[in-house]
Amino acid sequence: MPTRRMVLRQGLGACLVAAVLPATGLAAEVPPPDYAMIIDLGRCNGCLACVVACQEHNDAMPGGFPTKVEETEDTSGPFAVLRFLPTLCNQCREAPCLPVCPNGAVRREADGIVVTDHKRCTGAGACVTACPYGRRFIDSRTGKVDKCDFCRERLAKGLVPACVEACPTGARSFGDRNNPAGLFADHLAAGGLQPERPELGLEGAVLYRPAKRKEAS
Ligand code: SF4
Ligand code: SF4
Repeated sequence: MPTRRMVLRQGLGACLVAAVLPATGLAAEVPPPDYAMIIDLGRCNGCLACVVACQEHNDAMPGGFPTKVEETEDTSGPFAVLRFLPTLCNQCREAPCLPVCPNGAVRREADGIVVTDHKRCTGAGACVTACPYGRRFIDSRTGKVDKCDFCRERLAKGLVPACVEACPTGARSFGDRNNPAGLFADHLAAGGLQPERPELGLEGAVLYRPAKRKEAS
């Protein structure tokens, strides 16, 4: 036989559930994050602050470089122009590195980011070979595969990746395509973005805004 106190508590519990349920229902409708990085090539001056910040934050193997800045020459106009191309793991939606791991060490997390589970990774390197961008490497200190993961532990704290924070020119911006804000949202709204080597059809989450040529007047 329930006591009066038990009935009151059950009643209060029902009220609380009723109060919480609508909010829970709303939360269930919120889509998972769809993280992306946008790199405005017209703003990149090749300073390498992003590379240094990445190495320090992730304690990456010397010479491993989860993010790099490559130099390219734009010869599309009457004179050659030096360009800088920041590169990192593209977090491909159709990721060739994912199905080839014999140990199931490569997986996509709920936030869309492709990670390597170091408990399972044996360093055999099938994923390294499979990545058409060459964005994976074996850390000689651990024998495990490393690459950029958008600084997931920083994202969990509400921070942007270390390279984005370090960039002095705003060339890198980061956000959730399902909930864009600030410069990231402006880039998305403006359009004209493209992934690296779009002909591969891998739907990378790193998107570039091409630099415009300034022609001689
Ligand atoms: S860029 Fe390479 S390592 Fe990154 S998800 Fe794509 S295939 Fe995998
Ligand atoms: S910190 Fe910014 S401007 Fe400097 S190399 Fe990296 S992306 Fe380019």
